Amino acid sequence: MSTQYAQSVCLNGHQQSDSLSWGAQVDGFCKECGAKLISTCPSCKSPIPGSIDPNDYNSGVLVLGGNTETPVPKYCNNCGKPYPWTQTAIDATKELINMSDLSSDDKKSFENSIPDLLTETPKTKLATTKFKIYASKAGVTIANGLKEILIDVVSESVKKAIWGV
Ligand SMILES: [Zn+2]
Ligand SMILES: [Zn+2]
Repeated sequence: MSTQYAQSVCLNGHQQSDSLSWGAQVDGFCKECGAKLISTCPSCKSPIPGSIDPNDYNSGVLVLGGNTETPVPKYCNNCGKPYPWTQTAIDATKELINMSDLSSDDKKSFENSIPDLLTETPKTKLATTKFKIYASKAGVTIANGLKEILIDVVSESVKKAIWGV
């Protein structure tokens, strides 16, 4: 049997530990930004999945190289709601889009496509193309602001497609 651990993350998305025991509650604050730490989904209270220890101590099987970095998840795998750090990024993106000179139809369409940039969905390619069109229409200042907010939260393929990194 492998062991699934939980992770603690601050409300801004900084991971503190990925090897908490499953269901453990944390209190305290982030070392990097001072925000509150959580180890469960604020909506459904399900633990935030951390690392998996692949070693089966009972059978004596030792798996080497199992200690890879655990990513901070964007959405709860139990209730599907965005975690607070994901919601903050989406909200910040919307605020910037609303400051642009895009028409209100364009703004709405742009905003609605943002969540499809964060995870791979059948609409991700469409959202990527929309991003390029709307970001260039919105102007360099807005486009740069959007890049700063999104570059750490979008999926790898989107990062490559939009910014070539
Ligand atoms: Zn933090
Ligand atoms: Zn949840």
